[in-house]
Amino acid sequence: MLNLVLFGPPGAGKGTQAAKLLEKYQLVHLSTGDILRSELAAQTELGLEAKKFMEKGELVSDAVVIGMIEGKIDSNTGAKGFIFDGFPRTTAQAKALDKMLEKKNSPITCMLALEVEKEELIKRLLLRGKDSGRADDQDQSIIENRIKVYNSETTPVKDYYEAQDKYQGIRGMGSIEDIFGRLCEAIDNL
Ligand code: ADP
Repeated sequence: MLNLVLFGPPGAGKGTQAAKLLEKYQLVHLSTGDILRSELAAQTELGLEAKKFMEKGELVSDAVVIGMIEGKIDSNTGAKGFIFDGFPRTTAQAKALDKMLEKKNSPITCMLALEVEKEELIKRLLLRGKDSGRADDQDQSIIENRIKVYNSETTPVKDYYEAQDKYQGIRGMGSIEDIFGRLCEAIDNL
């Protein structure tokens, strides 16, 4: 199995690149942000609870997102592999993911981390906020908080994969096609 963690700060282009990668490599895309937004749209209890954190740019609890991902892994038994997008976002989530995949005998192959400068992230997110209507993309202070939370809680996940020799940084600046090319090159060389 090819199990990829697509990593990077909010606005790094994970969702855009994941859509292109899953088509090319026939993987199942698991985005915790997308799953949480669909729970919210359906007004489930989980979605309404998560909303309180999402609208402030805080992280939803580890237990909630770990449970969600476990359910999705279990319900996709025939998958050739997964692209994890927006997950794991804490070291506890990364450890839980390793345990889940251990049971399936198919560990994480690699973490591909999109590297983008902060000014560019804010610009992209505000632009996305205009087009998508995502509330957390429309307010500069929420965006700044998401980047702050990313720096404090999520960057340690990079060290976690680096220690396993699975980390690869990918330049996330430039055109969508250029970045996609860099990702494919890294995957084809795995
Ligand atoms: P982005 O990476 O652009 O900020 P996402 O769509 O990945 O956005 O996530 C949106 C929000 O959903 C996050 O700000 C957070 O509140 C919540 N969320 C998504 N994934 C996780 C996760 N793995 N752990 C905790 N909270 C999460």
